[in-house]
Amino acid sequence: MTQENILIINCGSSSLKFAVINPQDGDEKISGVAERLSTPEAFVRWKFQGNKDMVEMPAAGHFEVFGKLLDVLKETNLFDTIGGIGHRVVHGGETFKESCLVTDEVVQGIEDCIHLAPLHNPAHLVGIRAAIEYFPGLKQATVFDTAFHQTMPERAYIYAVPYEYYEEQRLRRYGMHGTSYRYVSAKAAEMLGLDLSNSAILVAHLGNGASAAAVLNGESVDTTMGLTPLEGLVMGTRSGSLDPNVFSFLNKTYGYTLEEITDILNKKSGLLGISGLSNDCRAIEEAAAEGNRRAQLALDVFCYVLAKQLAGLAVALGRIDALAFTGGIGENSDLIRKKVLELMGVFGFDMSDELNEKFRFGNEGVITNEGSTVAMVVATNEELMIAQDTAALIG
Ligand code: AMP
Repeated sequence: MTQENILIINCGSSSLKFAVINPQDGDEKISGVAERLSTPEAFVRWKFQGNKDMVEMPAAGHFEVFGKLLDVLKETNLFDTIGGIGHRVVHGGETFKESCLVTDEVVQGIEDCIHLAPLHNPAHLVGIRAAIEYFPGLKQATVFDTAFHQTMPERAYIYAVPYEYYEEQRLRRYGMHGTSYRYVSAKAAEMLGLDLSNSAILVAHLGNGASAAAVLNGESVDTTMGLTPLEGLVMGTRSGSLDPNVFSFLNKTYGYTLEEITDILNKKSGLLGISGLSNDCRAIEEAAAEGNRRAQLALDVFCYVLAKQLAGLAVALGRIDALAFTGGIGENSDLIRKKVLELMGVFGFDMSDELNEKFRFGNEGVITNEGSTVAMVVATNEELMIAQDTAALIG
């Protein structure tokens, strides 16, 4: 049996997603998720050959889930097909500019970035150490969310605060979703017959977390997320960019602590905060269609802020060869795409209603008329990128 597949591991603070993928064609052999880790309700569920399975693992943490994962991979006869493990890592700081094989130095480098991603990087390290223990024969690689944005010029990543914070603590803009931008910009260029090394592509990655990026000649030159994923667009539960004095305002008027305000802006704001209903775009669209005013307002703010920030990113490109929508909202919501392109008419977008409705649910293509600046839908595939990077690194 050939070891052609890659095991993808994505450890969150209280969750662990996994998948086994063929890096040649992206075929997903198994996928699953463990949630509510380290609580009495912890569980793992997975899908294999169309069948769903689930096991409760009260109080289990990331480490214990690896034991179960090993059992499942053996039971499904997938274990012997795996050639390596690819870990998604949220923050690589300025240290990691591309994917790399796991070594002691790499582990140390991820540890050194913990102050930049205090919830995620420790979880990734547990995942890497558990994988070494449970899968000792397999090589491992790390693929960083921030790496693709390391090509941003200084003017795009320096905050206008005293420079010593950057010098001493690397306080700067980093950006996230880099793996998605790398995949989508290359795919968009391919679909349009453009030479990636001579292209100017805006990408809007709109999922529950959302950001946008300017990709010039295949390299990120600016993006909307910053030091953390809170900066930038309005998201499911995140506020996106706001006046930093909101912190002191909420502290002084409500007496909230720093931690409470951070929690409000990350988990109770965005679509959820404005609508008071849900963080789920689909649910908001349904409520808006039924006349719910705050749901309508949430969509209006979401689209206006998105259009305004995409317009800002156009400055970094100098021209727009294409605007690519991706992520759960970008790939499926014809309504959001329509509102955004209408707001961006000044850039020469002329949307086709027919094409916009056609390209949803995994269908990809251009959604603008002949003669228009191109807008399109591209289905992102971060797992495939991680699998391909890992396969290339392990040889
Ligand atoms: P992701 O984080 O990329 O999985 O995207 C999740 C987001 O995509 C959620 O806000 C979903 O409501 C949204 N989404 C998925 N399908 C649709 C749809 N058909 N219309 C609008 N939003 C959708």
